[in-house]
Amino acid sequence: ASVPGAVPVLAPRRPTRKIQVGKVAMGGDAPISVQSMTTTPTTDINATLQQIAELTASGCDIVRVAVPTADDAAALPAIARKSQIPVVADIHFQPKYVFAAIEAGCAGVRVNPGNIRKFDDQIKDIAQAAKDHGTALRIGVNAGSLDPRLLAKYGKATPEAMVESAIWEASLFEEHDFHDFAISVKHNDPVVMVRAYEMLSEAGDWPLHLGVTEAGPAFQGTIKSATAFGALLSKGIGDTIRVSLSAPPVEEVKVGIQILQALNLKERKLEIVSCPSCGRAQVDVYTLAERVTAGLEGLDVPLRVAVMGCVVNGPGEAREADLGVASGNGKGQIFVKGEVIKTVPEAEIVETLIEEALRIAESMQAP
Ligand code: SF4
Repeated sequence: ASVPGAVPVLAPRRPTRKIQVGKVAMGGDAPISVQSMTTTPTTDINATLQQIAELTASGCDIVRVAVPTADDAAALPAIARKSQIPVVADIHFQPKYVFAAIEAGCAGVRVNPGNIRKFDDQIKDIAQAAKDHGTALRIGVNAGSLDPRLLAKYGKATPEAMVESAIWEASLFEEHDFHDFAISVKHNDPVVMVRAYEMLSEAGDWPLHLGVTEAGPAFQGTIKSATAFGALLSKGIGDTIRVSLSAPPVEEVKVGIQILQALNLKERKLEIVSCPSCGRAQVDVYTLAERVTAGLEGLDVPLRVAVMGCVVNGPGEAREADLGVASGNGKGQIFVKGEVIKTVPEAEIVETLIEEALRIAESMQAP
């Protein structure tokens, strides 16, 4: 969904050239897309399509699949044809799979210049094949597999080294008049990563694919990604994002969407405004907030629900939200659009909120 014009954002998007990854536009004024990557063996076409369907349902815009072998490459035509969202083939080491993925009808191909020997010699042919098929590319520079020349020059994967690698590879494609590519310069350290993307965004108008690589297990990876993406997106840098977690890919998509929504770069859907609780709380706020969140999971309308523990900020927040409860004295005052509609006993707060939320959602969806 695009962002309504009136919604405040921290900075205007930095102008980038717009490319097309299948049906998804990237860069320019296109909405910032959310990507993930399947974890099934690509050769297992049914399992991969099943995971892609789950990712699509969770809001993923573009999916990447790994192509380490010829058998994986052979699975690409079926996957590209049946996937509901654009499929990007992830290629390391073997240029021949780049051609196979383009021929297979993949919307995009990610190439890692650091991992493809003699890659530079093949760029003319890759550019021509991609042009002929309308395939987008991503030049995916990664700290862990930096071009050996640059590793030797800089000693390690510094922002300067990654950016130099990316710009060099970009120039080789541009020499052949190929411009339909995005760039990423991923590092597992958010500070290095942010600096690299800032430098890259100064150097050209390529659409940028943001990622903190190997960000870690869900909690740490979420924090690292949110911090790094937040630093960049708040300056208008970034056209597509991939959160990397050691967790199921649907979790990556949920985190990515939440990051965009938090910055008003994607329309907010369900938002629970709940207080942290404190010594004044007169109800169990944690349980209340958890039960309301669980009860409303998957609600696909913009709805702000306030769950507040006492009367200090409770009535104020509850009034500002579409729906809310301010609790106290074993009761909950239920607010809808700023008006108290009823007061219910504490035991009925959750079911009342869920009932009212569904009623509001239904009225929003009605034609
Ligand atoms: Fe504490 Fe009340 Fe604020 Fe919740 S709303 S944090 S219970 S003062």
